[in-house]
Amino acid sequence: MSLEGKVAVVTGGSRGIGRGICLRLASMGALVYINYVSRSEAAEETRKLILDAGGKAEILCFDVADISAVQSSMKKIVAEAGSIHILINNAGITRDGLMARMKELDWDAVLDTNLKGAFACAKAVSRVMMKNKWGRIVNISSVSGYAGNAGQVNYSAAKAGLNGLTKAMAREYASRNITVNCVAPGYIETEMTELLAEEVQQQIKEEIPLAVFGQVEDIASAVAYFVSENGRYVTGQTLHVNGGMYM
Ligand code: NDP
Repeated sequence: MSLEGKVAVVTGGSRGIGRGICLRLASMGALVYINYVSRSEAAEETRKLILDAGGKAEILCFDVADISAVQSSMKKIVAEAGSIHILINNAGITRDGLMARMKELDWDAVLDTNLKGAFACAKAVSRVMMKNKWGRIVNISSVSGYAGNAGQVNYSAAKAGLNGLTKAMAREYASRNITVNCVAPGYIETEMTELLAEEVQQQIKEEIPLAVFGQVEDIASAVAYFVSENGRYVTGQTLHVNGGMYM
């Protein structure tokens, strides 16, 4: 399904799941803005992959947790590209640890990036989407936000918060033809999961009915559904892409 003429912003689009989403949206014809915060070389690589495949992409560095940086970056995109039609709130971090030992800094960092960042980006694009009477926002949540995960109270809380943000926004913006949905990945092969020790990865796989980790393309496919015309009548929903580990 074509996204020709659409402008998409993917936060944390430089690597991992975000890169997979950027490649997919670009292959569907969108002009994709690849956001990152620190690793410019990864963002350049994503852009090169898109350009080599005949797609359109730009790069923009900003911290999603910095509300004024988000606002000025979104304004810059609208000035350059004319509009923003699609926002994928994908940027996310982990600062794992048992609650008893979790530092306030680790709580704040995860809530700021994973939850406040999504709020800031969605708020910043909502005006132009309302003007267009068309918009697609997809928040990348996690199985941890639904099932909970020991050692991740900060991350689980932030991701559960995204679910509430999604539903409330979906209700507020539906009359303007803006849909807001969530994709909740299980374990997907990226640098985030590579951080897990080999034996931990094996234990997790034993609890996944499909018995393997997912690929970034599995998440990109779910996002593609929500932003395409196929998903036009779906809002406020979560699509769980997790090999059956939470149902
Ligand atoms: P990665 O760690 O591979 O990539 C994270 C991306 O987010 C990078 O592009 C990074 O930019 C960017 N980023 C981090 N902090 C900020 C910030 N403050 N502002 C802007 N960009 C930022 O993550 P994954 O691809 O594994 O995960 C992507 C999303 O999917 C996250 O929301 C994660 O919680 C979620 N998820 C992942 C799962 C998995 O198994 N991998 C499972 C469930 C959910 P830079 O390169 O500059 O650091």
